Amino acid sequence: MYWTRIAVCAVGLSLSAPALAQDRQIRVVNPTEYDKAVRAARAGDTIVLANGVWRDFRILFSGRGTADKPITLTTETKGGVILSGQSNLRLAGTHLVVSGLVFRDGYSPTGDVIAFRRTTGDYASNSRVTEVVIDRYNKPDRRAQDNWVSIYGTDNRIDHSHFEGKTNAGVTLAVIRPKGEPGPNRARIDHNYFGHRPPLGANGGETIRIGTSDESLSDSASIVERNIFERTDGEVEIISIKSGANVLRENLVLSSQGAFVLRHGNGNLVERNVFLGNGVANSAGIRVINRDQTVRDNYLEGLAGRDLKSALSVMNGVPDSAINRYHQVANARIHNNSILDVARVTLAAGADAERSAAPVGSRFERNLVSGASGSDPFTAPGEIGGIAFAGNVQARVAKPLLSEGVTQADLTLERAANGLLYPTDPALADIGAPRDLKPVTRSEVGVNWYKPVAAAAFGSGRTVSLSPGQSIADAVAGLDDGGTVALAPGRYTVARAIPVTRTVTLRGAGDPAPTVTLSDGGFLDIAGGGGVAVEGLAFRAEAATRPAIAVTPGMTGNYRIAFDRVIVSLGAGQDVITLAPGTFADEIRIADSRFVGARSVVAAAGETTGRGYYPVERLVIADSHFARVGMITDLLRGGTDESTFGPFAHVTGSTVTDSGQGGVSLRLSGAQQVRVTGNRFERSGPVEVVHSVGTPDTQVTGNTFVATPAPVVRELMHEGRPRGVFVPNQMEQAR
Ligand code: CA
Repeated sequence: MYWTRIAVCAVGLSLSAPALAQDRQIRVVNPTEYDKAVRAARAGDTIVLANGVWRDFRILFSGRGTADKPITLTTETKGGVILSGQSNLRLAGTHLVVSGLVFRDGYSPTGDVIAFRRTTGDYASNSRVTEVVIDRYNKPDRRAQDNWVSIYGTDNRIDHSHFEGKTNAGVTLAVIRPKGEPGPNRARIDHNYFGHRPPLGANGGETIRIGTSDESLSDSASIVERNIFERTDGEVEIISIKSGANVLRENLVLSSQGAFVLRHGNGNLVERNVFLGNGVANSAGIRVINRDQTVRDNYLEGLAGRDLKSALSVMNGVPDSAINRYHQVANARIHNNSILDVARVTLAAGADAERSAAPVGSRFERNLVSGASGSDPFTAPGEIGGIAFAGNVQARVAKPLLSEGVTQADLTLERAANGLLYPTDPALADIGAPRDLKPVTRSEVGVNWYKPVAAAAFGSGRTVSLSPGQSIADAVAGLDDGGTVALAPGRYTVARAIPVTRTVTLRGAGDPAPTVTLSDGGFLDIAGGGGVAVEGLAFRAEAATRPAIAVTPGMTGNYRIAFDRVIVSLGAGQDVITLAPGTFADEIRIADSRFVGARSVVAAAGETTGRGYYPVERLVIADSHFARVGMITDLLRGGTDESTFGPFAHVTGSTVTDSGQGGVSLRLSGAQQVRVTGNRFERSGPVEVVHSVGTPDTQVTGNTFVATPAPVVRELMHEGRPRGVFVPNQMEQAR
């Protein structure tokens, strides 16, 4: 039985309706009590979940409240209820309010964590979700898709909530506009904190999407305002607008890869947003496509992205475009933006044989522009006669691209009390972003009662000392997150691979380094978020076929691997590290290490879906030695998707001998940035670089190739000369 009591005013449930005498609070302690309470709920009632962990609780919250007397679902105390396992929430009805829930330590069994609908067509309206947290609540295979929040229906709001650490496919927060339902949603998304979203490594990593192309020519009329986006790096679209008449206003975007993209739909307004890129690679601002878009009074500073990831880009369209391609820009109004210290402002962006329709009837006025390092940020790969320039001011460059309507000036800028730069010259008062911008602060967004469970840094936990004869597996099992096992000099044996489910460091002391013999070839299995650092250790196995370090398919969350001063000796059929499809490493870093034998040091070509997924964002190999290795790495990012930024692959300062014989010694396929510099290859197979989509940035320079063929570059899509820099390198004959 549940109990009821008379609510007293100001009991702390300030988010519910004004508490009237007859409003009931119903406390429930299990799902059965909850179901009974929600079926009996009347307008004005509040259902209170008892504090604790609710596992596998699939909440259906339905009912009909009124504007004055909503039905509320909340928690005993804020943050006191954790929904874990396979929990989720559906809302259906009218005037519902949900607050205080935390989703953590699990994942939704369906396509949404929070959905504003019960089933197809049965939506919530005039409802609000406020002060909820979704923290790393990810499906185990990151290619399996869900939305953390799916807003259906009309006049719904999500506010003051905290979203962080989505690593699987799917939008963090989507306004869903199903085919055949072109009506306005009037969703309001405000005062939320969107925290770190690591690169997905494929399309489908947007933080917010409003609509899809099907109904994109009708208006959603949704508002996204005063949210913070911090390191929302999922893909090139932080916000993807695919409908009309939306407003993106006064948001703050910090150190994030990607842009607000007006991908489909007309008549959207982007105003008074603040983008601070802090020079982060691929940090972008606003991308304009379609008709009647207004971009005004925004402040964009320190954005390093180029091309479609420019601080501001105005795209070329496709003539008679299909609904899901690129409609021509017409009647764009771009004015009073400050675009400072940025790499690029790209007009007629993406111009090519298909995207041949230049912007028309558009105006670019009273903007204040300066390029990074005194460069001219303006670039126009196509015709820009359809954009009228007037009253703009640009920091002086020697040979500006634009002369009409853009005045060159010796700008002096000063930070105002709001933290933003403004010109000191009073004559420029009407140029650029307005003085009254008030960037939203961290305390205005999200919740103040929740601390996310961030991955521990290597070496941040306690250290456990180990001597020969003791079990490394037992020591690892007893570590706290971020802990270190310090191995004294001597010999150790690992009977079978040790599961690693947290952040773990294995550190050897002494010279020679402690040596670990791998009985069946297995050393470490990365089976959960976190990762492993190995320092000052030697490990060896012979005639084994199992990878020494494996990543468990279906593990949740991203991970890292770091090798420093590691000496590895393996058989010719064994990989040092094998990456599993459906998993993702933020970084694999190998430094000052030595490898003898082994089929491959980093086997990273297993992701063969062709949907653009790849297994590691940054692969860094430096100052290491490879002898008689099959391949140093075989890294594959397949497919033609252009939504992501990586992978980045750097191999520097290393020596490679008698490796890759009969094949290639190093293959980097589909990487967006390649640096193979300052290495020495002897009697080895060539380096092979394969370019697919995007604008790969490849440098293979300063290497010495002794009795080793010259590097090979292959272009899969690009026509014309192969891209990249391949000189100078030194070619020598065998001695
Ligand atoms: Ca996308």
